[in-house]
Amino acid sequence: MTGENAMKREVLIVGGGPGGRVSYMMLRNMGFDDAALVVNEEPTVICSLPYSIGRNLIPEGPEKVVVDLSKPDKLPPDTMKDVILGEVTRIDMESHRALVEGKSGRREIVFEKLILAPGALPWIPPVKGVLGDGGSEGTWVWYGKERVRRSRLASNIYSLRGAQDARSLDSFAEKAGKAVVVGTGAIGLEIVEALVERGLAVTVLEALPHVTSALDSDIAAHLEQRLVERGVTVGKGAVLAEVTSEGVTLENGTSIEADGIIFATGVRPNAELAREAGIRVERGIVVDETMRTSHPDVFAVGDAAQITDGPTGTPVLPLIGTLAMRQALVAVSQILGRPMTMAPATPWGVSKTLGLHWASVGWTEEAAAAIDLAVMGLTLPYNTHEPYMAQNRQGLWKLVTATGKDAARGIVPGQIVGFQAVMEGKSPLFLAERFLDVITRRETVMDLAGHYFIHSPAHNDVNDPYLQILFMAQKLFAGN
Ligand SMILES: Cc1cc2nc3c(=O)[nH]c(=O)nc-3n(C[C@H](O)[C@H](O)[C@H](O)COP(=O)(O)OP(=O)(O)OC[C@H]3O[C@@H](n4cnc5c(N)ncnc54)[C@H](O)[C@@H]3O)c2cc1C
Repeated sequence: MTGENAMKREVLIVGGGPGGRVSYMMLRNMGFDDAALVVNEEPTVICSLPYSIGRNLIPEGPEKVVVDLSKPDKLPPDTMKDVILGEVTRIDMESHRALVEGKSGRREIVFEKLILAPGALPWIPPVKGVLGDGGSEGTWVWYGKERVRRSRLASNIYSLRGAQDARSLDSFAEKAGKAVVVGTGAIGLEIVEALVERGLAVTVLEALPHVTSALDSDIAAHLEQRLVERGVTVGKGAVLAEVTSEGVTLENGTSIEADGIIFATGVRPNAELAREAGIRVERGIVVDETMRTSHPDVFAVGDAAQITDGPTGTPVLPLIGTLAMRQALVAVSQILGRPMTMAPATPWGVSKTLGLHWASVGWTEEAAAAIDLAVMGLTLPYNTHEPYMAQNRQGLWKLVTATGKDAARGIVPGQIVGFQAVMEGKSPLFLAERFLDVITRRETVMDLAGHYFIHSPAHNDVNDPYLQILFMAQKLFAGN
């Protein structure tokens, strides 16, 4: 890269998702003007995309969640002046230059500091029939190990990540009668809910033996029951063999008719650009608690970044929007010389499936077994009101607790590494937040003695769940 007319900016930010956008807005809000943001698609409030398709919560549809940076509430009126539409296709860390390519041509940007926020790309399993003969338009998706442009996908294949995806899925919901959703994570189930709200007959397929790997099978069973009660066909242990214009065929020979197939089969960090620039990438771009990468002038935030899990010290990809925003704040604080660091984190998710609320923080029993971490589950009923009240709905919360010492990971007996909840008529968000703190601070079940429980009859049951867990903990772990 040697362009003579290169644009110069002290800080260059790559990616217009929550990580990149918050980095740029923070810098501008702090009066720092010498920054440019490269965006390759219209930014959206990405977490609300499924609700924009369901229409119950967002009757206006997907356009309501597109973030118009030219109409900012609290930003300088010239906000758009350094927002560049295009894709950064190369970074040279020796000369601190980035090449941006877009419809208006190629341009080089010379920078001093770089914030990488390229996010993650939907991952679609390499199944026969998924690729069509389209061209090379649109943003990227992973098709197995290959990165392909959206237009390479067959016309009846959908995923949900950006504005264009939401628009396509929305017009599919308008005209289609039957859909297959592949994947039962939070996003898959939010799409199922949206399509049910739009009146489609939905089959949801999961390769695992139960829905939602963020929950253990005992808790996930409640979600599955809800799906079935609401008319959704649930296929477990379902491995796709082929996709056609008629629907899907599974490896066991079953065929399911569908007008479209929506893949919610997870995402993979979009870390190729960083890797090619010589920045250390493992599962994602490796960062420290200041969000600095292996290069001192480069920060990475959001879904592309791999962090160290608070409770276990294991490298994890949290893939959480609000974490991306917090990481952006930390990266910017470092650049502006007012340094903040990230508090320890662990993956979490809170969602609602056809009226049933659920939450997962940290490690399930099943995920812990996969890393040879010895744990046990402690499950308790949770009441939304006093049990004798007509409004009461019972839920469950479950703690996943280490049973022994794990010196290599610094884990002690009784340490809480995971929390799950399923609740009717009430969000478990407040419990998930409390246990997020407990888990990332490496507290044990005995440490719950340091946490108070507030009772109010219209809000919960007087039976203090923390006391109950402490009774259990006394029996199991006291003296350890
Ligand atoms: C349907 C859905 C629902 C979700 N719900 C929630 C939720 O309820 N709560 C929550 O906390 N999280 C949620 N998430 C996760 C959350 O959206 C992500 O964690 C978050 O978007 C990550 O932000 P990011 O900035 O790292 O990446 P992204 O949002 O992926 O943004 C990255 C952007 O950079 C662009 N880009 C990539 N490479 C380049 C390049 N070389 N040049 C220019 N641009 C580039 C990408 O195209 C993309 O537009 C949800 C995600 C989805 C898809």
